[in-house]
Amino acid sequence: MIEDIRLSLVVDMCGCPNRCKHCWLGHMPNTKMKDDIDEWIINYFKPYFKHIAYYSWLREPDFIENYRERWIKDKKLSVESTPMRFELASFYRLVRDPEYVEFLKEVGTKIVQLTFFGLEQLSDKYIGRKGAFNELLEASEILIENGIAPRWQCFINEENKNEIIDVLKLSEKLKLSERCREFGEEFKFFVHPGSCDGENYKLYDIRLNKMNIPNELRPYMLDIDEYYSESELVEMLKNDESIVDFDYGNDLVLNISNNLDVYYNFTHMKKSWCIGNLENEEPEDLIRKVINYDVDAINKAKNISIAELVKQFGNATSDRMFAIDDYKMYLLLKYLSD
Ligand code: SF4
Repeated sequence: MIEDIRLSLVVDMCGCPNRCKHCWLGHMPNTKMKDDIDEWIINYFKPYFKHIAYYSWLREPDFIENYRERWIKDKKLSVESTPMRFELASFYRLVRDPEYVEFLKEVGTKIVQLTFFGLEQLSDKYIGRKGAFNELLEASEILIENGIAPRWQCFINEENKNEIIDVLKLSEKLKLSERCREFGEEFKFFVHPGSCDGENYKLYDIRLNKMNIPNELRPYMLDIDEYYSESELVEMLKNDESIVDFDYGNDLVLNISNNLDVYYNFTHMKKSWCIGNLENEEPEDLIRKVINYDVDAINKAKNISIAELVKQFGNATSDRMFAIDDYKMYLLLKYLSD
């Protein structure tokens, strides 16, 4: 029995209405899982881990009609642990189901993060659904009317960088800060380029150039001092003989797809990152692999230094902007070609 690791099982039971172009998990079909699979999954891990938090959603939270029962069941299934709500909710459900905001209040939600990619056309395009932008605005209104602060996060790239300024202006026009202050919460607006895995890996060509950060957005760029241009990163890492390392510490999060493939939450859910399948592997074998990082991608990562990754895949003339760990992961994914 492993007592010092807090395990979170994050299971794609609910799917997602969106197909965001920045989705780090990667796009997956919405496939309904068997109703009693949750108990089967918990029982698979229970003999090995003392603390298990069960989440029935991996993608959009509460994108399931019986979200209320689901939340109660997730808590009941968890072992010596309680699943968290985070600052997330389903904006799809918020605009369709008047009961949903009541549920959010009941579970103590104070802030809900909503993601923009520009104004209507660009946000709809990047979220992958016509009407998504207007739903985000309507959801913001519903939240504020109910004393919950929306938090607007914007993903920025070369295509949408100027429109993100318009999103900031829109938040000012709607007086979101003042209106949230009235009920004692703070409205937050922030901008970042995202990681470079999953679907966002495909947006490398239009990744924001460091010299092109709009001045108006600089105060809202999250951790701006931790971002470098690719040419700076190539220079910083070209003699780094260490390897891309992975460490889940005492908090182990396992993402489980709707066909029961198991992944760490380090990067996207693609073949070489799959630890194993719950139906096809004996629990002891799978747990051994989980604990020992025995995964194809991680085993391959041990055989190549960061310096070699930079030499093979770095672009010393690129001004594209990355956080250092995101860049290392991008190089590794190039090497693995997945
Ligand atoms: S980023 Fe979130 S909301 Fe968008 S497709 Fe991925 S899981 Fe769904």
